[in-house]
Amino acid sequence: LFQSVEMAPRDPILGLNEQFNADTNPQKVNLGVGVYYDDNGKLPLLECVQKAEKQMMEAPKARGYLPIDGIAAYDQAVRGLVFGADSEPVKSNRVATVQALGGTGGLKIGADFLHLVSPKSKVLISDPSWENHRALFSQAGFTVEAYPYYSAAKRGVDFDGMLTALNLAPEGTIVVLHACCHNPTGYDITPAQWDQVIAAVKSRKLVPFLDMAYQGFGQGIAEDGAVIGKFVASGQDFFVSTSFSKSFSLYGERVGALSVVCKDKDEAGRVLSQLKIMIRTNYSNPPTHGATVVTTVLTTPELRALWEKELAGMRVRIKQMREALVRKLKAAGVKEDMSFISQQIGMFSYSGLTKDQMVRLRSEFGVYGTDTGRMCVAALNSKNIDHVCASVAKVLSA
Ligand code: PMP
Repeated sequence: LFQSVEMAPRDPILGLNEQFNADTNPQKVNLGVGVYYDDNGKLPLLECVQKAEKQMMEAPKARGYLPIDGIAAYDQAVRGLVFGADSEPVKSNRVATVQALGGTGGLKIGADFLHLVSPKSKVLISDPSWENHRALFSQAGFTVEAYPYYSAAKRGVDFDGMLTALNLAPEGTIVVLHACCHNPTGYDITPAQWDQVIAAVKSRKLVPFLDMAYQGFGQGIAEDGAVIGKFVASGQDFFVSTSFSKSFSLYGERVGALSVVCKDKDEAGRVLSQLKIMIRTNYSNPPTHGATVVTTVLTTPELRALWEKELAGMRVRIKQMREALVRKLKAAGVKEDMSFISQQIGMFSYSGLTKDQMVRLRSEFGVYGTDTGRMCVAALNSKNIDHVCASVAKVLSA
């Protein structure tokens, strides 16, 4: 049976991690990851999470099966966070929300459902995009193509290219859009450009699928979520996947969601019934712990305030690292203007370094980023930044 099974290519990021772990350079720095570390280089365990877990321990509960769509209070809290508890679509009960296994799970349930209702549609993702978008939608049965996004020459978004591609897309094309903190480039489009994207998507009758994996990591919870309000105001049906992996530092708990905004309550009920079949036939129902933690934090005013403070702390530290990077690269002798790094947003920076330069950074200096030049700014700290800047300066000078 397995004789003809071929070895699948290795996940490039995991391969990089293995190489990093085997590196004996005492100054090695891993900027290849997609994870936020604190200034001590540690994965944070948020205080709001610890407090919620303490509360949960004090009133231990048996772990029965959850409903297929997850904890009702969790789904409600997600809707509140993403759309606003008093927003029209939430009050009209026209948003179908299901608990999912991280943001990936939300995307996958959405992809499977879309393949059921629109199997011939194409999927458009940004060029470049998060590695898994292409694989996930291909695996769900779609042909996946890309719309222009990053322009190395512009050091930013090729917005004209993006808009042209959307305006040429056939009706029914599914368009995956990063709601904020674009991974991997760190370049987001402006609110005015969002208006143009929304108008194009609406007039071409495309299906928008917003991937919101970093709400709160860019400008703030409300600011990063503002694009959702714009889509609601445009009166279209759309999909939103949510991830709490980063914003709660709960990577391993797999806490996320999928929300589908429908025309009315009746439609949302029918959509929800189909989403439940996708879940039931894949893993039956989701796990309890992570979603209970997130629900407790989001619905307990003191814990919610603490979370917002801790999330702001992560956001501010990333910004400080961006600014320090620009300053210290200059001080280390880099002649090029690197100020674009502080205009980027979220966990990642497209540094503009070539593949050869990234390879040299690894082999000569133990500084690990991806071959595309992506570096995780959220893994920089006050102890490793000088080594990173000195290494980048050396690689850029020769
Ligand atoms: N979308 C994007 C753009 C991401 O960067 C990530 C995580 N790296 C995800 C989705 C998946 O998030 P999760 O880990 O919650 O599945």
